[in-house]
Amino acid sequence: MFAKLIVDIANSNVDRLFTYRIPEELDVREGHRVLVPFGRGNKPVEAFVLELCEEYDTGFQVKDIVRTMEPYTALLPDQTELARWIAKVYHCTLCDALRLMLPAQLRGSRVREKTVRTVCIAEGLDKASARASLLKKDGSARSPKQLEIFDLLSRADMAMSVSDLNAYVPGASAAIATLIKKGCITEQGFVTFRSPFSASVERDSSPELTEAQKTAVDAINARKPGEAFLLYGVTGSGKTEVYLNAIQKALDDGGGAIVLVPEISLTPQTTDRFRRRFGDTVAVMHSHLSAGERYDEWRRLRLGKARVVIGARSAVFAPIEDLKLIIIDEEHEPSYRSESNPEYTTDEVAIRRARLTGAGLVLGSATPKIVSFLRARQGAYKLLELRERINGIPMPDVEIVDMRSEFMAGNNSVFSRNLAEKIKACVTHGEQAILFLNRRGYSYHGECRACGFVFSCPHCDVAMTYHKFDGTLRCHYCGYTARVPGVCPSCGSKYIKYSGIGTQQVEEQLKKLIPGVKCLRMDTDTTVGKTSHRDILDAFSRREADVLIGTQMVAKGLDIPGVTLVGVVFADASLFHSDYRSSERTFQLLTQVAGRAGRAVKEGEVKRGKVVIQTNAPNHRAVRLAALHDYDAFFELEVKDRLRTLFPPFAVFARGLFVCRSEKQAAEAAELFAAEAEKAVTGSLKGDEAEKELLFVSHGPAPIRKRDDLYRYAVIIKLARTKHTSKAVTALWSLADSYNVEGFRGVEINPNDLL
Ligand code: ADP
Ligand code: ZN
Ligand code: ZN
Repeated sequence: MFAKLIVDIANSNVDRLFTYRIPEELDVREGHRVLVPFGRGNKPVEAFVLELCEEYDTGFQVKDIVRTMEPYTALLPDQTELARWIAKVYHCTLCDALRLMLPAQLRGSRVREKTVRTVCIAEGLDKASARASLLKKDGSARSPKQLEIFDLLSRADMAMSVSDLNAYVPGASAAIATLIKKGCITEQGFVTFRSPFSASVERDSSPELTEAQKTAVDAINARKPGEAFLLYGVTGSGKTEVYLNAIQKALDDGGGAIVLVPEISLTPQTTDRFRRRFGDTVAVMHSHLSAGERYDEWRRLRLGKARVVIGARSAVFAPIEDLKLIIIDEEHEPSYRSESNPEYTTDEVAIRRARLTGAGLVLGSATPKIVSFLRARQGAYKLLELRERINGIPMPDVEIVDMRSEFMAGNNSVFSRNLAEKIKACVTHGEQAILFLNRRGYSYHGECRACGFVFSCPHCDVAMTYHKFDGTLRCHYCGYTARVPGVCPSCGSKYIKYSGIGTQQVEEQLKKLIPGVKCLRMDTDTTVGKTSHRDILDAFSRREADVLIGTQMVAKGLDIPGVTLVGVVFADASLFHSDYRSSERTFQLLTQVAGRAGRAVKEGEVKRGKVVIQTNAPNHRAVRLAALHDYDAFFELEVKDRLRTLFPPFAVFARGLFVCRSEKQAAEAAELFAAEAEKAVTGSLKGDEAEKELLFVSHGPAPIRKRDDLYRYAVIIKLARTKHTSKAVTALWSLADSYNVEGFRGVEINPNDLL
């Protein structure tokens, strides 16, 4: 027998199948990881077996596989298929795609399995006479320790670890050795799993489902193989309970499930909820696990000891045999797109995996991506809806405050009079408030403080970004550049502002507003440590503070009953981020943050949460419709706009990036590539097809022009979405593959951001 395999070396030169002979004594199957001699020096290299074949003749000498790396196949058949698809669609090596399926620690045998010494009552032992022999004639113990251990093990009726016995009976080791010698107990050693869970949890069971929940669960349970659902449910409508019920069915049917949540909401709160329902069959996968824990959780899943995984995006690759369900909670989160090679999109991968395995896919959100909702409209997903909150808790009451009038009225504070009053009242009543400030990364834009005028691109209808270094405003989509004007073109005011507000500033002003207020701040500065994000949330849940101030981190999955007020200090920061998705993201963020207010029943009485949104753009649809909780209206307007202006999903962006030490070199390289890219796309299509397909090609400095002393220039290619798009994309990829210019960083399709 022969095996065709991919060596575990991430280099496109060796990214093809190599054939090795399988020695008689080895049991090698598809999906095994094996060790093989590779290259001229016959260096030992790990490899993935993808195919077996009976015959092989090319005249070349075939080398032998040395051994298998694990006794079991590390890759399931559907994972291998999925990897092939990923390599093709996301344009990476098969080796890189296969690596996604395995914990890094498995490769290179970097983590050992953890074994423990255990003992149990010797098999076939006559317990009564053995016990008698441990006693003196008068019935007292010869050695109290030996007797105690013997009795413990008899009662336990199973093996116990030596370290556990030492905890019960201090200094048990010598007594254990004697008992083994006497033949009363025998030693075993077995492999154990390091658990990422610190404490066990009480089990619970499902509450009586509401009619809407029942309808959703029934639809999911009656699915066709590979069918996908979009569960659109307002915040607090009981989506998680729907997942839990559908997973229960999957488990009852002998299968397993994958639950994906955004990394940031993978708190013990979330995982415990699943463990309460399903116990030890729940495994977790996220970046805060130790190497050993990650490896063990993966193995628990692979060996069937756990059948439900809850994890961040990479858990979509978890090794679950007989996968019945994949759930993506908060499916709108940008973190579901991988930023490192391969740059996959989690929902696309999940759709594929569901098709390969016949599993069902459920995408859940209170604010589905425009693309997802459109797919549901077009029938690719079945739409399930939960339009009401559980327990009749009303949606929060949202007020919009126009910060321009505050400014004109002489209020220079970050708090409007309205929000300031509400925070004071909230704190006085012993309730809690969250103040949210959306400052994701690089979001400076030019804006008039008097009339709110925002400088936007005349060609693209997106805000231009202020470039401080040369005093210009630039459009990141078409490269249009304008000088920063001295006065507002709309009202003539000279109060033009180019920066945002920071969380520290909010904290300072809050302390002035309410002396002695206890507040916590959560942003990238305060959450550096491994657990600090969780520590802050825990402290806030324990009511150790009245107010939590934070960036978008506070927006997600947080369910704190004491919170009755949410203040959005400044809503526009994300609105005019120069990205066509900025209004979608703003709508999502505002809706999610607003959902944090008043989710609980307080002292038997339903408390309606209050939300105040401060903005310079009170009439912007993202703000206005989020305040009205009107997703449907927002969706309609947004889709119309995207269609009119040809933005995704109706168009595709490709970006080529050059990063060079010399600015001139980067700029020239980008200019050259722009011409090549245009040629490649038009060359791959017929004349009129190409004309419809290629919307524009531009080149210029990337929004972050210089990083780490390197200059970054980008080429943006915008393609219309037609039936020829994939041809054009393929042409760009083959151009990129053969493009050996210094500083070239490849081509990305629809990158998450264009920074
Ligand atoms: P979502 O995931 O949509 O935010 P959850 O599933 O977390 O909503 O539900 C919100 C709250 O309502 C949770 O505290 C949950 O335990 C509770 N809940 C959900 N479904 C029911 C139900 N059918 N009966 C009673 N309580 C429920
Ligand atoms: Zn433009
Ligand atoms: Zn103005």
